[in-house]
Amino acid sequence: MPLHSTDAIVIGGHDLSEADRIVVFYTQAGGKVRAVAEGARRLRSRFGGSLQLFSHGRLVYFERPNRTLHKVNEFGVVRSHHVLREDLDRMVLASTAVEAVAVGVEEGEASPDLFRLLAEVLDLLEGSPRPALVMQGYILHLLRLLGFLPELLECVHCRTAVAAVPDVCLSPSQGGLVCARCRSSVSDAIVGSAAALGFLRGASGSTLRLIDRISLAPQALQQVTDILYAFLRQALGRTLRSQDVQARL
Ligand SMILES: [Zn+2]
Repeated sequence: MPLHSTDAIVIGGHDLSEADRIVVFYTQAGGKVRAVAEGARRLRSRFGGSLQLFSHGRLVYFERPNRTLHKVNEFGVVRSHHVLREDLDRMVLASTAVEAVAVGVEEGEASPDLFRLLAEVLDLLEGSPRPALVMQGYILHLLRLLGFLPELLECVHCRTAVAAVPDVCLSPSQGGLVCARCRSSVSDAIVGSAAALGFLRGASGSTLRLIDRISLAPQALQQVTDILYAFLRQALGRTLRSQDVQARL
């Protein structure tokens, strides 16, 4: 069995048996990897409490050729991100962040850019005073890396440039902005303010650390959130479990 060593973030998992657990990682070198952590559920497991959701560490795993389930050899935590498991609001945002990757990418497709983005958003969600804003920047960049960045400059139907005026309209099914003349042709229009569109345009060209410093009125942030979660649902083809939880908070 080939042995691999890579940076990895725990993005999911479930119990396999009384002693073993399946852990889903997003790894820097190998993309999404599912692996069995033997004995992880035992009281005196050699993994201790290291394999918790959001943990970022150094993973060593045995690849089982032609199998999708590999075997964890060791996992050394670099950043435990424990704050994300202790603060309910941050936990829900971080859960959405990792679940979107777990659902949105196929196993074995490595993307160092996506790994960097995920590592960065977990770091920022832990410490930022504006985690909800950082989260929207993350979703926008995630959509870009998955190939679903919304068109934010011109109408997706007639290709006319759309100005940042009040009541701009975006359509997830059509992939972006729809101008006032074409609006009647879409059934899933979401209306946003000039401030919401301004944020989306600015954030698509900014790093998460820059987005963390942007100030956005609560109403515009809510519009941005509604817009980007609708585009994420469209891209993933379903609603994430963590978003259901978010809606009930
Ligand atoms: Zn148009």
